[in-house]
Amino acid sequence: MNDNTSAQQLVRQGILNIAPYTPGKPIAEVAKEYGLDEIIKLASNENPIGSSPKALAALGDVSNTLFQYPDGKGSALKAALTEHTGYAEEWITLGNGSDEVINMVGSAFLNEGDEVLFSDYSFEVYSIVAKAAGATIVNAATFPGDDQARPLGQDLDALLAAVTDKTKLIFIANPNNPTGNLLLAEPLKAFLSQLPKHVMVLLDEAYYEYVEADGFESGLAWLREFPNLIVTRTFSKLYGLPGLRVGYGIAHPEVTGLLNRIRQPFNVNSMAQAAGVAALTDLEFIEQSLTVNKAGMTWLTGALEQRGLQVIPSYTNFLCIQVPLPGKDLFEALLKRGIIIRDLTSYELPNYVRVTIGTPAQNETFIDSLDAVLAERGLA
Ligand SMILES: *Cc1c(COP(=O)(O)O)cnc(C)c1O
Repeated sequence: MNDNTSAQQLVRQGILNIAPYTPGKPIAEVAKEYGLDEIIKLASNENPIGSSPKALAALGDVSNTLFQYPDGKGSALKAALTEHTGYAEEWITLGNGSDEVINMVGSAFLNEGDEVLFSDYSFEVYSIVAKAAGATIVNAATFPGDDQARPLGQDLDALLAAVTDKTKLIFIANPNNPTGNLLLAEPLKAFLSQLPKHVMVLLDEAYYEYVEADGFESGLAWLREFPNLIVTRTFSKLYGLPGLRVGYGIAHPEVTGLLNRIRQPFNVNSMAQAAGVAALTDLEFIEQSLTVNKAGMTWLTGALEQRGLQVIPSYTNFLCIQVPLPGKDLFEALLKRGIIIRDLTSYELPNYVRVTIGTPAQNETFIDSLDAVLAERGLA
């Protein structure tokens, strides 16, 4: 950079339009700021019972091999995923979190001027990836918040109507974050079959393990029929391993081969690979996690509805709740009481908050504190 140029002038088009991702507030930071000993974090959809013990046990063996590079092909984890998904390794892309796979898809397929389409209230990472590539974001409206059947649900007809000659990539999270909504198999497949051939679809199944619903299917079953479809999944949610950063994408071998060209050679570290293999077989932990989540979901939903609050029916490990004060104010008031939730102002849902389903004790503390805040403001 000489005297006349600033980094802002040199940076690629699109980067200046990106607002940095807002992560959930870290526990240590909140504890220090408010002088609190105990903090409950219900902001990042982490598994409240921790990590898969089998995965943690697998880490011990790996510590002796950290002087070596990881397996750049991720053969053992891919083999385990083949067992888990039925897809051979040429269909599998491993990522440093599924965020990295989403990012690879953007880098591989998006040109400047391409349109990237997704519904309002979609995961923030999609817009970061689209903007970084200089693509144009097109948003489709969802069903309204007061829709009886699917409040804020993704509207596939609206998405289809927004497809143009320039549409290159559509992002759909199923279930969706931050709303928790679900799309059923039949309409989603019908949607896919109506798309023109020049459109890729990334179906983000970060929460699919939590879904219990008649008529739901993972998109994995449709990959042979739709070679333009990419399904991503993660070890960060149900398996409780977000700190290790490991996720995967499954797609037609031609797509997978293209992603592999831009993949950093050692993108998934040795510990993450070993933990992933072990976590897939930790059926006891998986079952326990699902049980805690389901019970928490029932209890929390009941408690919130009793207080007259609207809860969007959730198929995930979190609830999206309409609140009678700005979500940001509720976030701050709860923060002072040692509870971190997610306000959805950055998702343009200023009157909603997202709360991860915690342990029974965490859920009760959250509801007690919510009661206190609402009473304080005369809203109870
Ligand atoms: C949490 C989440 C992810 C990704 O998480 P990684 O930790 O990067 O695997 C992806 N999509 C959605 C919708 C999520 O909520």
